Amino acid sequence: MTPKRRLLIVGGGTAGWLTAAYLAKALKLSERSHLEVTVLESPDISIVGVGEGTFPTIRTTLQFLGIDEGRFIRETSATLKQGIRFTDWAYAPIDGRHHQFFHPFEAPFYAEDLNLVPYWLLQDEAGRRPFAQAMTLQARVAEAQRAPKRAGEAPYAAPLNYAYHFDALKLAKLLAERARQLGVQHLMGTVTDVALTPSGAIAHLDTAQHGRFEADLYIDCTGFRAELIGRGLGSGLKSVRHQLFADRALACKLPCSDPDAPMESCTIATAHEAGWLWEIGLNGSRGVGCVYSSSHISDERAAEILRGYCGPGHEDAPLRSIPFAPGYREQQWVKNCVAVGLSAGFLEPLEATGLVLIEAAVGMIAEMLPHSGPMEAPARRFNELMAARFENIIHFLKLHYCLSQRPEPFWRDNAARSSIPDRLAGLLEEWTLRPPGRFDFLLDTETFAFFNYQYILYGMGFRTDLSAGRDDFPQSEDANKLFAKIQRFAERALADLPSHRTLIQQINAVR
Ligand SMILES: Cc1cc2nc3c(=O)[nH]c(=O)nc-3n(C[C@H](O)[C@H](O)[C@H](O)COP(=O)(O)OP(=O)(O)OC[C@H]3O[C@@H](n4cnc5c(N)ncnc54)[C@H](O)[C@@H]3O)c2cc1C
Repeated sequence: MTPKRRLLIVGGGTAGWLTAAYLAKALKLSERSHLEVTVLESPDISIVGVGEGTFPTIRTTLQFLGIDEGRFIRETSATLKQGIRFTDWAYAPIDGRHHQFFHPFEAPFYAEDLNLVPYWLLQDEAGRRPFAQAMTLQARVAEAQRAPKRAGEAPYAAPLNYAYHFDALKLAKLLAERARQLGVQHLMGTVTDVALTPSGAIAHLDTAQHGRFEADLYIDCTGFRAELIGRGLGSGLKSVRHQLFADRALACKLPCSDPDAPMESCTIATAHEAGWLWEIGLNGSRGVGCVYSSSHISDERAAEILRGYCGPGHEDAPLRSIPFAPGYREQQWVKNCVAVGLSAGFLEPLEATGLVLIEAAVGMIAEMLPHSGPMEAPARRFNELMAARFENIIHFLKLHYCLSQRPEPFWRDNAARSSIPDRLAGLLEEWTLRPPGRFDFLLDTETFAFFNYQYILYGMGFRTDLSAGRDDFPQSEDANKLFAKIQRFAERALADLPSHRTLIQQINAVR
């Protein structure tokens, strides 16, 4: 008889329930009587309840879990996200004029025999289209508040790449329901003590409500508290505050005053004097937040910036303060305990990498978890891969800050060489003479591809000087034809695709 195998997930936030549902599905829990997956969730500690922006990988995950896309959109007040519009990042506003650029999910238009990027770089700066508008039709589609797909299109599929914005509390509820359907057990209880074996593994957990729990693998999804991996096992957090300065967020939810108003299909990220603001349109409300460095401005000043952004009529909207320590644990899997979600680390909300890190972790756990025997080897591999993934995300996030020309101390400190990771500084130097390419990155530990770097670099006004090699790019006529073709495709897409609001209304009309 196969010995019993118990996986205990502590925490019922997005990380806990996504991990539970994913493992239940991947390990075929309903067909394995020897396997037990339990979520233990504190009735007294609420979930963080933020994290409304996602990355396109979430579509594959939700589909894998067998969640119907229409139902997901309806039940989580979701909208579709085609990327992020950055305002005032490169320059502070001058006389009411704002610099903007778009980071779309869609990769630049790709032709087998012709890479358009050098031809864009060689065009006259004053006359050329912004990089994202020149390279993909998605920028214009999102700008026009069109959806990336039509109502009749297959679930989770579309002509243009997309993710979602959703209500994080509602998502956790939906995932919990799906996990239970897949055979996950659920208990309400608070872990009060983590008992260790002489070798430093977890021997058992004590809870106020249910007494003692023993498991083969303990999955710490207790959020910032990191009850098991941090407090219990003492795995330390590696701070990256010297590179990423933001350490606080103020969040609020605003009602939508006009249910028929055009609806953005992108996150709006607006820089301010010491950080940035997010604006995320959901169906029926707007999530708005201010991310900032407490070393550069006070909490009062951050609240003033946020209230100024929200505008008149929202003076009394309650603000929630969420402090965080940017960093990650280098040892996320220790003996028989692995951390997933905020307990493993959190960098900051920029580019919405929280959920994508959960997806990466749980995918690896499902594949690497040994059927029996010691866990040291998979733990080592997991730690290496997750640490590399966090480091690479740090590089990508830092790129948004260190290229800015803004004059405020927060931005000047961000541009200081001492705050830029060496690897990123080296790449930036190389990219002055050639654009980012696929060989700059080891794909298995990357969340962002070389073209994501291109969108941020050239959106921020970074210069790659190809003029010395101009003669090596003789196909400018063909390139111009392709650039024109992208614009024709964009025109057609604008005519064919519904408005984002219309699509969301159509999906919500189905009951
Ligand atoms: C300001 C901010 C903005 C963010 N924006 C984004 C975004 O746009 N996109 C994105 O992908 N991510 C974002 N994130 C990250 C995202 O919110 C998290 O990755 C996600 O919500 C997962 O949280 P979690 O489940 O790890 O923790 P939590 O939601 O905090 O859940 C912790 C769970 O552990 C339980 N618990 C705690 N202690 C105990 C105990 N002793 N015993 C039993 N149970 C316990 C609690 O009851 C709770 O159920 C953001 C985070 C912050 C802080």
